[in-house]
Amino acid sequence: MSEHYVKVKIHVEQMKSFGEDAEKQGVDAEEEEEEQVAVSSSPPASVSPDPPSITIAGRDVSNTFKHRGKSRIKMGKDDKNICGKHSLDVSLHGGRNVNKLGHERTLHIKGTGKILQGKNNENNGVSMRPSKNIQEARREDGFKLARKRRPVTVDTSKAKTSLEALKLSIRQLKWKEFPLGRRAPCDIYWHGVSFHDNENIVSGQVNKFPGMIEMLRKINLSRAVRTMQELFPEEYDFYPRSWILPEECQQFSTQIRMVKENDASVNPTFIVKPDGGSQGDGIYLIRDPSDLKLMVGSQAKQAVVQEYIQRPLLIDKLKFDIRLYVLLKSLEPLEIYIAKEGLTRFCTEPYQEPSQKNLSHVFMHLTNYSLNVHSGNFVHSSSQSTGSKRSLSSVLYRLAAKGVDIKKVWSDIIALVIKTTIAVVPELRVYYQAEIPPGKPGPTCFQILGFDILLMKNLKPVLLEVNSNPSMRIEHEQEMAPGVFEYVPSPVDEEVKVGVIRDTLRLMDPGHKRTSISNLRAGGLDHGEEIPMEAEPQDRSPDEGALPSLCLKQVYPKYTKQFNYLRLVERIAALFIRFLGVKGNMRLGPTAFRTFIRTCKLSNSNFSMASVDILYIDITRRWSGTMADSREAGMGLQAFVEAFFYLAGRRFKSQPLREQVASLLELCEAQLETPPLGGEERRSVSCSRALPRSIRTQTLPHPQLSSPGPLRRAASQDYRLHQRLKPRSLRANLEN
Ligand code: ADP
Repeated sequence: MSEHYVKVKIHVEQMKSFGEDAEKQGVDAEEEEEEQVAVSSSPPASVSPDPPSITIAGRDVSNTFKHRGKSRIKMGKDDKNICGKHSLDVSLHGGRNVNKLGHERTLHIKGTGKILQGKNNENNGVSMRPSKNIQEARREDGFKLARKRRPVTVDTSKAKTSLEALKLSIRQLKWKEFPLGRRAPCDIYWHGVSFHDNENIVSGQVNKFPGMIEMLRKINLSRAVRTMQELFPEEYDFYPRSWILPEECQQFSTQIRMVKENDASVNPTFIVKPDGGSQGDGIYLIRDPSDLKLMVGSQAKQAVVQEYIQRPLLIDKLKFDIRLYVLLKSLEPLEIYIAKEGLTRFCTEPYQEPSQKNLSHVFMHLTNYSLNVHSGNFVHSSSQSTGSKRSLSSVLYRLAAKGVDIKKVWSDIIALVIKTTIAVVPELRVYYQAEIPPGKPGPTCFQILGFDILLMKNLKPVLLEVNSNPSMRIEHEQEMAPGVFEYVPSPVDEEVKVGVIRDTLRLMDPGHKRTSISNLRAGGLDHGEEIPMEAEPQDRSPDEGALPSLCLKQVYPKYTKQFNYLRLVERIAALFIRFLGVKGNMRLGPTAFRTFIRTCKLSNSNFSMASVDILYIDITRRWSGTMADSREAGMGLQAFVEAFFYLAGRRFKSQPLREQVASLLELCEAQLETPPLGGEERRSVSCSRALPRSIRTQTLPHPQLSSPGPLRRAASQDYRLHQRLKPRSLRANLEN
């Protein structure tokens, strides 16, 4: 056994003997939906060959890994905590986390700007540290107020692999954990996988949205982004061009053939990703559509085939991607926060542009931790700025040192996150109302998402995928001896993830006042303006005096003014929900579709109700064939959106699609007297109850399933003229 392993073993022994929470509570890695890519392999700070350079301030690490509580950690010059603060000479005393936090140096961090300040911060920081008296007074105030208030209760019984990070967070907040759940309701329920982990929750808040897993599967995400690309092609050019398999296989082959025929010098590469896959499972690269593997046994594979970004930004000649944590705090009103610190995951084989020879080199092309950790080149580092997994800030710092405008990069990343969220919110609203219809007692929801982002060589961020269940593990498995594995703490993961969970909890604190409507309306900058990196001072509740400032930065509604115009599909979803009619329903029946047309006065002599029925049948039939889960009959949101686009195209012919859709929305909303989106006071996403009584009780004839052939054909053909797929320039996307 190497000396390193001996040290690690001693470390783990200490951990076991001191740790109060060393025993695992039903954590089942296999049940975790999401990949484990974010699990760091850095050895624990205390056993690293180099002095540890990671600040553990801001977290109560003393109870879980108590050995650390006894050590005094000297900080390196790059040491910062996740909120962008340098923490100098932080002593960790077991069980006194609030004191520890109080000793933290408080630098006002500017987005990721902390790393811009680099070494200077170290000198400046001393003067910026609050005086001891102020700190103590603040801390005492915090204690007093915390004592007065009933502690927030958290049911952690279903937390699974996020349990350790969650426990640390709860302890720092002095909240009350219920590891086995409890009979009385808790304020917060923390689920490891999905909204349904705990059934029958009727109050409080749950850290998962219904439908999020489904929405973020590769095919559904691609569809949602594609719809937005149709409306706003320029705004949504951060997502690689994608085709859905098997249904668009033919289209894919034809388009690629045409591109190659037009320009023989274009030689694109494509990445094929199984729909429900994670951790790089089943992914492969191809250069020709004929290389697609379409079948698993006798079943057609559900997958996305996507343009491969051939020229990613490299660091140390290696490809890497960014894992960014995003909190969807609320759907209505839409509230989005971004963690100022994230992770970067590096490949372990120097990058070369794809060629027939290297297509199968996964360590060169795929950044997944779960794959690269098996490479002999994987570097476990105790520093956040070296090795195969690094902090985002260390990477941005490095880029800034090379003269890269990282403010611009960060601003583009924020825009990407907001736009992507806007793309998935409409369908989430449908799931939400089906699960918790107005009037039914139920919890409210929030969720931490993991955005995987690649930077192209020209620094443009590209969205790879969004994980509904990003790994929140803060320890990683290490082989102590051949075949003997132990979990050891991973400082980089702990640093980032505990901050994200703790600050998510702080934002969800039921004692906090909700963001006021006036605040929501305030908006941000004008469309087109660059988003500043500075994080504005966040509100703190009085009992949070001792905690570091939030590492989550609000980006929406802060930038409402810049992005609200993109929320067209959400307005279509609001109409859809209004006409669903039956509680818990997610599909519109033919009668409801007719009611929608009638109520919004969309039929006329040129577009009869018979044509409406044909439109319904045609679109619904086609969509039901493409949906993996087509058990429920009727028209889903995506099909309704397509029908809406068609109707908009018919009525407002010569305008661009987005204007057609906006005009039709205005018309429908005027008929329904719906207040505009963004004026968040309209919060009835209810179904039948939102409709006038006359509409609710109206019974319309069943659509003429046997409508006259010629008419049906005419309407279908007319409809098909409005095909949705308008190929963008492939070449434009391949040039990075
Ligand atoms: P998984 O959920 O299996 O991790 P991803 O979509 O995250 O699937 O893809 C796995 C890895 O493949 C990414 O981390 C990235 O390194 C690489 N990758 C994915 N899509 C692309 C793309 N369009 N261009 C270049 N690399 C990609």
